[in-house]
Amino acid sequence: MSLFFLTPGRMRSPEWALIPGGSVLRTLLMPTTVAVLGDAAGRLVLVDCGFSRAEMDATDPDFGSIQRAYFGIQDRGDRSAAALLEAHGWDPDAVTHIIATHLHVDHIGAYVDFPNAEVLATAAEYASARERGRLAGYHHVRPILRSGRARPVTLSGGEHLGFPAHLDVFGDGRILLLDARGHTAGSVAALLTDPETGLHVLMGGDAAYSPDELRLGRKSPLAHLTAFRDDWLRATWGRLHAFEIARDTTPLVLSHDPEALARLPGPTRAPRRPVDTHEPVR
Ligand SMILES: [Zn+2]
Repeated sequence: MSLFFLTPGRMRSPEWALIPGGSVLRTLLMPTTVAVLGDAAGRLVLVDCGFSRAEMDATDPDFGSIQRAYFGIQDRGDRSAAALLEAHGWDPDAVTHIIATHLHVDHIGAYVDFPNAEVLATAAEYASARERGRLAGYHHVRPILRSGRARPVTLSGGEHLGFPAHLDVFGDGRILLLDARGHTAGSVAALLTDPETGLHVLMGGDAAYSPDELRLGRKSPLAHLTAFRDDWLRATWGRLHAFEIARDTTPLVLSHDPEALARLPGPTRAPRRPVDTHEPVR
């Protein structure tokens, strides 16, 4: 059992766009954050997966150097999630599920690098993404739906931890999805638990770009540009902030916060053993 984090494919952004009151002169490198949960049989679940190898190398015919420059991608494919996992001895084919906080390209592009994984997101997110399309950042939704790997889910578990709805993905408490809509129509936060170490982490996705944005209720220019619904986003900020106060030992990790990863475990080496990917997770 393991829970660790990767930072594939950093993006460049002017500081003012991300941080209220930020400098117009400084540039930040924003990480994309991927959580990796392993079970005793060697199967892996990812929460978000970043850009794909081909997107980072600009060798994808649908996502070339213009898109690479538009997103300010700084790293090449040797820093994609699949490449980072391989470098630590993990097999990308052992990834059985990718859970998307939402379906924007910088969170789900790498689904192509994990051919055995189902792509799990809320049904509301799939529906909105299909309707809004590439211009709203949903480059991959139609291909994922065509691939047969899409797994839309409903947060059927009712109110939980101050959030209006939740879902215990595998029924074992390891991954709880919490309704965190606002950035997109069906965004979730993911509360992750490593039963062995007792580590809990709340992944907030793009609910905010910096902790101060949600703590102070000050919307960044980038959030202005990207928010699906302002009133939903602000309600989600309130719930995330209340969670932070109530559970101050559980780090809240925002996908593009450069400081978040300093508090989290980096990749561990894979144990040497054969992996059986055919057995279902639950
Ligand atoms: Zn993002």
